[in-house]
Amino acid sequence: MELQERLAEVRDRIGKAARSAGRAADGVSLVAVSKTFDADAILPAIEAGQRIFGENRVQEAQGKWPSLRAEFEGIELHLIGPLQSNKAADAVSLFDVIETVDREKIARAIAAEADRQQRKPRLYVQVNTGLEPQKAGIAPDDTEAFVDHCRSELGLSIEGLMCIPPADENPGPHFALLAKLAARCGLEKLSMGMSGDYETAVAFGATSVRVGSAIFGSR
Ligand SMILES: *Cc1c(COP(=O)(O)O)cnc(C)c1O
Repeated sequence: MELQERLAEVRDRIGKAARSAGRAADGVSLVAVSKTFDADAILPAIEAGQRIFGENRVQEAQGKWPSLRAEFEGIELHLIGPLQSNKAADAVSLFDVIETVDREKIARAIAAEADRQQRKPRLYVQVNTGLEPQKAGIAPDDTEAFVDHCRSELGLSIEGLMCIPPADENPGPHFALLAKLAARCGLEKLSMGMSGDYETAVAFGATSVRVGSAIFGSR
């Protein structure tokens, strides 16, 4: 199958999952995760009308997106990988959405850069719903206090929550937990679901899904 067919199929399945959950298909946006793929591999997706892309490394994204952006209108770039504070300046200038605000230090660095550059990327707080030691993210029990802190102490406006459930568990309960935490924080946006579980995520209320290999092939 060609990339454009795979992309169409993912879109179709998102639409079906949304409708069977009684939701509008346009209530779910597709973040096409293009990490590890070069500009030539990404091009067919852009030509097929895809505009929202996710990258997990600041440096890799800097290498390929500025030129693609200069060529195509309306590209929206999401950072979906961990951010180090020494890369905060680059991340704030390159990304439209940073989905991985996962600790106080990085929230503070983003706030300082947003001020300095007069540029405000949309922000998601990453929640470690499975409390996995190797995984980034705020613990579920600390999420509400952290979002409050970002808002009141750092002046950041947080748009939603993001999670990556443990690979070996049923993702449903993790998606449900993220939705519950978001409601408690008064947040409407939920970034959850990847190639293996995006339809489940839509059923649990995802407003964006991050799909890589189902579109671009295996990495
Ligand atoms: C790589 C990645 C994805 C996409 O994973 P696929 O299984 O290839 O769809 C989604 N979210 C994050 C945070 C990722 O790092």
